[in-house]
Amino acid sequence: MALTTLLTVTLRGDGDVLAARRHARYIAELLGLEAADQVRIAALTFELAHELFRHTLTATLALAVETAPPTLQITLHARGDGVPSWQVILHERAGGEDLQPLLADFTIDLISNHAAIAVLRKPLALSGAIADERARAIVELLTEAPQIDPFAEIVQQNRELTESLGALQTRQEQLRDLNRELEDTNRGVVALYAELDEKAVELRQADAMKTRFLSNMSHEFRTPLGSIRALAQILLQRLDGELTAEQEKQVALIQGAAAELTDLVNDLLDLAKIEAGRVDIRPGMVSIRELFSALRGMLGPLLQNDQVALDFHCEDELESLYTDETKLSQILRNFISNALKFTQIGSIDVRARRSIQNHEIEFSVSDTGIGIAKNDMELIFEEFTQVENNLQQYVKGTGLGLPLCRQLAALLQGRIDVQSTPGEGSTFTLILPERYMPPATVSPAHQTQQNARAGLSPPAAPAP
Ligand code: ADP
Repeated sequence: MALTTLLTVTLRGDGDVLAARRHARYIAELLGLEAADQVRIAALTFELAHELFRHTLTATLALAVETAPPTLQITLHARGDGVPSWQVILHERAGGEDLQPLLADFTIDLISNHAAIAVLRKPLALSGAIADERARAIVELLTEAPQIDPFAEIVQQNRELTESLGALQTRQEQLRDLNRELEDTNRGVVALYAELDEKAVELRQADAMKTRFLSNMSHEFRTPLGSIRALAQILLQRLDGELTAEQEKQVALIQGAAAELTDLVNDLLDLAKIEAGRVDIRPGMVSIRELFSALRGMLGPLLQNDQVALDFHCEDELESLYTDETKLSQILRNFISNALKFTQIGSIDVRARRSIQNHEIEFSVSDTGIGIAKNDMELIFEEFTQVENNLQQYVKGTGLGLPLCRQLAALLQGRIDVQSTPGEGSTFTLILPERYMPPATVSPAHQTQQNARAGLSPPAAPAP
């Protein structure tokens, strides 16, 4: 580390204070500092020198350059009974003005308050070598510098003042322009907000209408669909007489189509009910083993392809959780039936594991099926979305299963996560709290967080 002293001034009279100011400005300029910084350093040196000189005749001020790190140093030194504390010098001077604006990027080391010794340091944006080179050049230039002429110094100060005022004026004009622009933008934003509010109200109304429409329509569809299925069943059972082979095929097609429509209507009704906030959660203790055994019984028969295995695994120590069993089972059924639809070879593994840290249970359904492309990962949670693939035309589906699952998961205070690689398979994970908490005991913040995670908006007003 090299320290080069550029200048030492003993402050014995007003002329010395002026000289200190003049030299400080000159040094700042030679060090390549900006014009505003040059004025600031000159003013700071003057203020400090003047303050020390007012109280003692033995004050000195030194300017130096340190190379590691490159820094400009102002060292002040004053002894004597009349020397005020730095607190007074820096903050509460006679005029009451504070030196802080001048000190902006200086660090201050108060070596002794009693003897008033302080080192002020300002980092320089120069390399150590260049700082050293400039410091040596400055020392030479200063030895050749002419004596300070007080009149010339005042002329110089006036010039600086005029320049500062000019810069200030330009700044003020720029600020005024900026303010005007900001006001215009502000007005625009306020207008946009008003429009947004209106749109939000319209959207809420449209959403409530959609929910009402879906729920009414679905009810209207249910009865005739029930009749079609029952009548088709009667015909197929030959209760009304024999059928030709062709007739039997046609009636079976009618029955199949009616069953698909019933699934669609049921999904729509479920979604409409959730959106209208008309779904009750009935929590209870759910035995995971029993749930898995029921799912195996229900979905095992759908496994028509002996190249695919369906396995259930539950961590040994994991027994139960407190939630709504029907809704949990509905979500897992949907995951598993999707996995069955989109897996031609390999295995489907249904697992339950505890995440102790978060008091959550994770139910995952992993398959070795066709997988889902990254871009489609969010789309599949939108209503009526099915991804184009070569299996889609051979499988049944409404595109409502996953949106429904996401809504149900949110109602159970949980969330759904999907990992998938096209051609390798997918894992759908349902993460539920170990213990469902009735909404009254859930803080609004927690509920909002849960809803946000699940992409759920606040429930619309219940349909009449
Ligand atoms: P659908 O009744 O059509 O199965 P879902 O909402 O349950 O409706 O699923 C939407 C779409 O997401 C499916 O049509 C399918 O394209 C894709 N998908 C869902 N699960 C899987 C999976 N396990 N593997 C591959 N694609 C899947």
